[in-house]
Amino acid sequence: MSKADDDISELTAYDDESNDEGEKDKKQDSKKEASSAPAKKSDDTYVAIHSSTFKDFMLKPELLKAIADCGFEHPSEVQSECIPQAIIGTDVICQAKSGMGKTAVFVLSVLQQLQIAQATGPLCLVLCHTRELAYQICHEFDRFKKYLQGVATKVFYGGVSIMEHRASLKKEVPHIVIGTPGRVLQLAEEGNLSLKNIKFFVLDECDRMLESLEMRKDVQTIFKKTPHNKQVMMFSATMKEDTRGVCKKFMHNPLEIYINDGSKLTLHGLQQYFVKLSEKEKNRKLVSLLDALDFNQVVIFVKSVPRAKQLNKILQAENFPSTTIHRQMKQEKRIARYKEFKDYKHRIMVATDLLGRGIDIEGINVVINYDMADDADSYLHRVGRAGRFGTKGLTISFISSEEESKDPKVLDEVQQRFVVKVPEMPEKIDASTYMHN
Ligand code: AMP
Repeated sequence: MSKADDDISELTAYDDESNDEGEKDKKQDSKKEASSAPAKKSDDTYVAIHSSTFKDFMLKPELLKAIADCGFEHPSEVQSECIPQAIIGTDVICQAKSGMGKTAVFVLSVLQQLQIAQATGPLCLVLCHTRELAYQICHEFDRFKKYLQGVATKVFYGGVSIMEHRASLKKEVPHIVIGTPGRVLQLAEEGNLSLKNIKFFVLDECDRMLESLEMRKDVQTIFKKTPHNKQVMMFSATMKEDTRGVCKKFMHNPLEIYINDGSKLTLHGLQQYFVKLSEKEKNRKLVSLLDALDFNQVVIFVKSVPRAKQLNKILQAENFPSTTIHRQMKQEKRIARYKEFKDYKHRIMVATDLLGRGIDIEGINVVINYDMADDADSYLHRVGRAGRFGTKGLTISFISSEEESKDPKVLDEVQQRFVVKVPEMPEKIDASTYMHN
């Protein structure tokens, strides 16, 4: 439960795992590769192999009640593997298949252990890479703490007036803080957010947060402001070997769950196709697809903000119920768009990679890569927006030629890493294979 702070001082210069050798043997016991594919129920929901129940975790009755309200019947595989250890304070580093319930792992584990009596400052800090994800995680805490008396959560991210955040912290100090690193650090450095009582430190999408040097620097500075003794938990669907090493530097003897076999990251409810075409054929193809496909909600990924704006305009002009979200929008508008989409007010979202990770919107069953992802990892995150929690979905990637782009290379990389065949889109796709029941 503790961590030598010296360890993370070297992080920026981190190069390999050699200095972990001594620790390795000790860690073997708790190190696991996620076991085989989860069993599939007839309603296409994945459940853990042993079909345990949340009651088996001996959670507080208030949490069990909230879990039942959410309609969760059985813990998923990642929940079965992590929760029993996480609720006794073990540090956790966990690679979990996209959309399989990792948020509930840390939310439930924190709420189970949280003791708010006599708390004089925030006890839990969750950091993630986008404001929309922070907002979503805060909502998850609110869902599960519903029957716990007096637990307060607050979310802090940039793009919103810092005065509001200062005032909000003066008015009430939350027990759980969720935020993006820049704003959290700013509030902490100016003394408005005390981190000296933190007992739980969580990084969601940890590879994304630690691979970007700038974000990593902020995360490290924040981490150093928290006490030595605390539980650290980190999660992502993708985690490169060297990132694991970086993550471990924040932890003490963690439970390690990795998925080394790429095929185990593939979402089996998801049909994946590509369409080969040139840049100038993309709009026409997209419109014909949107006409032909029978979708609940669709996310269309593009590679830049101007393209998101432009494509959204084109779709609206064609009378499609489309909207867009990107970094150049005012923050209030961004969250409003996210909420509207989640509430099914729009059926088409044109987005940049801002929505590429972590975002959980039940209605999305189709993802279109209008512009192919930059690499296999971001492809996996993007397509994971459909097919949440083992539901069915469809993804279609537009692949430009080798002369025009590196799309064919990325497609090859995807097929190799995740041991999946992404065939050319057939003339007709049976809607029952990707529509939710
Ligand atoms: P996450 O991977 O945390 O984004 O979760 C993906 C989706 O699965 C969310 O909509 C969760 O509410 C849902 N979910 C998580 N755990 C369970 C469970 N045990 N049973 C049913 N749905 C779940």
